[in-house]
Amino acid sequence: MTEHVLTVAGVAVDTRHWIGGERVASAETFTDVSPIDGSILGEISRGTAMEAAAAVAAAKAAFPAWAATPRAERARILHAVADGVEKRLEELAVVETTDNGALLRSHRRGVMPRVAHNFRFFADWLLKLEHEDFETRGHTNHVSWDPAGPSVLITPWNAPLMLATWKVAPALAAGNTVVLKPAEWTPLTASLLADIAAEAGLPAGVLNVVQGYGSEIGDALTSHPDVRRISFTGSVPTAQRIAASAAVNLTPLSLELGGKSPLLVFADADLDLAVDLAVEQYDNAGQVCLAATRFLVEESVAEEFTRRFVEKAGQLTQGDPRDEATDIGPNIHPLQLEKIDGFVRRAIAAGARAVIGGHRKDGQYYAPTLLTDVAQDSEIVQEEVFGPVLTLQTFTTEDEAVHLANDTRFGLAATLATGDPERAERVTAQLVAGTVWTNCFFVRDLQAPFGGSRHSGVGREGGTWSFDFYCDVKNTVTAP
Ligand code: NAD
Repeated sequence: MTEHVLTVAGVAVDTRHWIGGERVASAETFTDVSPIDGSILGEISRGTAMEAAAAVAAAKAAFPAWAATPRAERARILHAVADGVEKRLEELAVVETTDNGALLRSHRRGVMPRVAHNFRFFADWLLKLEHEDFETRGHTNHVSWDPAGPSVLITPWNAPLMLATWKVAPALAAGNTVVLKPAEWTPLTASLLADIAAEAGLPAGVLNVVQGYGSEIGDALTSHPDVRRISFTGSVPTAQRIAASAAVNLTPLSLELGGKSPLLVFADADLDLAVDLAVEQYDNAGQVCLAATRFLVEESVAEEFTRRFVEKAGQLTQGDPRDEATDIGPNIHPLQLEKIDGFVRRAIAAGARAVIGGHRKDGQYYAPTLLTDVAQDSEIVQEEVFGPVLTLQTFTTEDEAVHLANDTRFGLAATLATGDPERAERVTAQLVAGTVWTNCFFVRDLQAPFGGSRHSGVGREGGTWSFDFYCDVKNTVTAP
């Protein structure tokens, strides 16, 4: 062990960058803290423009050979990465839980298997990626997906490795080389991914991982002229800064941003199902971009819905995320907790009523909260809280429901609870949202387009959409 290697929950994690197949330390560090108990996990290399330049140079140098690597070989290596993830699944799960406080049982049984699946899915999709040739006046048109070049991938802390690999896997499959910068609150599993990829035989420089603050190394990466793609998941203000940097070099970018998605409950819905869907919105302590945080409930069933919701939410267990019985863990950071509480205080001062919760608990925990008596134009209805805070409003007509659902600057997702398929079709057609779930929530298939409208994002990723983004799509016209 060197001074650069931490032991986190029994797992060795290197705290340095991974650039060009080597570990590189920065002169400065930042402190990584566990949200579970506020304990200091260690000091992590704090990257600057210098490490950004080195990582992009490594990605640029490795690009021609990786781009020329046959599809089948790229796919084989990505499957080997998935094997490595599966082999170290328990280690990844405990390190991620220690770093971001999300439930260990979710990491073990849902998130880390999905990380492996991200690699397998895009490896397999690459092998079947094709477009039928077509003719124009006897000439043949052939569409191909050419690797685009070094890609910068910047990701948030709420599902660190899952969201990182949702970008890393298609970018590598496409033949691009990558510089990944995870969020500074959750740097650890990205470092483990670098180890796993190297063990799987990914050539040096094809995947680089750098650590540090967005305003420092992040800015340097997104404004670098040799970067050919930027894919970002995070908040709207950061996206606006990144888009401005990308504009200088006209770097194509994909933005997966926040949301304030509605759950529409109609009187004809199965109310037990609607309540199950509603309670699910506390998952990951409310730190889910897709969460349906605004309940819009038809007036005639609102009282009964609320009664059943309160009963069901009261059964949730909040506590240590390593405990299998826990349903809701801590929030990520004292600053985030402060932000959540500020939203709730201001809402209550403006006349909202906390049906449940509405306050902090010991440590870094926030009581699951439902607020009613909220105005449509109020901050709590319009802004993303990113904590276990939900609002409830009522409606009397379908038109009003659609109006309230769409009256937001976001457009990531919407969830409907209704027993009437025709209503579902009619309402869905009017909703502004990248994904609409009817009588279900969070059913995700990687071949589906994923992304948001308005301030929830730019572009779509998933299946062929990912390759459309990460590649330079080329049409070749050949004379007869
Ligand atoms: P954030 O924007 O603060 O940070 C995200 C990442 O951007 C971090 O890695 C950060 O270091 C980096 N960054 C910050 N400033 C930068 C800059 N100037 N240049 C380059 N990089 C910079 O977001 P967050 O608080 O980590 O994440 C929460 C947000 O992410 C929420 O809004 C949530 O809805 C959104 N999110 C969206 C999706 C989606 O798929 N649509 C998924 C998860 C989270």
